[in-house]
Amino acid sequence: MARRKKIYEGKAKILYEGPEPGTLVQYFKDDATAFNAEKRDVIEGKGVLNNRLSEYFMTGLNTIGVPNHFIKRLNMREQLVRACEIVPLEIIVRNVAAGSLSKRLGIAEGTALPRPIVEYCLKDDKLGDPLVSEEHIAAFGWASQHDMDDIVALALRVNDYMSGLMYGVGIRLVDFKIEVGRVYEGDFQRLIVADEISPDSCRLWDLESGQKLDKDVFRQDLGSLSDAYTEVARRFGVMPKQATHMQKPTLIN
Ligand code: C5P
Repeated sequence: MARRKKIYEGKAKILYEGPEPGTLVQYFKDDATAFNAEKRDVIEGKGVLNNRLSEYFMTGLNTIGVPNHFIKRLNMREQLVRACEIVPLEIIVRNVAAGSLSKRLGIAEGTALPRPIVEYCLKDDKLGDPLVSEEHIAAFGWASQHDMDDIVALALRVNDYMSGLMYGVGIRLVDFKIEVGRVYEGDFQRLIVADEISPDSCRLWDLESGQKLDKDVFRQDLGSLSDAYTEVARRFGVMPKQATHMQKPTLIN
């Protein structure tokens, strides 16, 4: 049997050539990294949970008409996605001050922001994904003005949808990061949400207790990352039925 072609390997995922032209297989690894991979570990079952959760969120976004790359889940760790040309930006939306915003501007973590704030970072590990402005983006041609209008609209729609969804299960969506990619349809190009939406790329706090249920658990050594992600998956009903808070997800590979 021929070995499938690896297209790209990132810190938490691998992309393989898909079965049809224009498709890719996105494989979720168990590797956890933080601080630009200075801190790293393998968290058993993380890939399984993120595959399920990203499927859940992307499917929901599809149903409300927010275009994204998700086609279908293939197995515990893999999903079929639409190939796209990734825009070299990380798009961050914040509802509550935390992380690098708190550090940069001296705003106490947990302060509700007057309105959602959209920020952009250049996707460049060597540079540590620096914050960039729309001026930089336009001047260096990373995205056009038209793309930027679409990016802001997409990011805010994802924020509205995800905030409501999280609120419904007792979670505050503090902030999140998305990536977008270009797809070509005839003479037209449009942008779709790509990569993943999971507790690796969002800050999620329990509404009542404020407990962190996202990658900050790993970044700040707050306990078991697997338990935190399992709790998020349990609230959305995407864990196998018999799974309880204490059980680890079933693994393949
Ligand atoms: O670190 P910072 O506060 O800028 O992160 C904002 C949000 O973007 C957090 O939810 C974080 O998990 C996410 N993020 C990410 N990948 C990065 C940087 C940030 O998913 N490379």
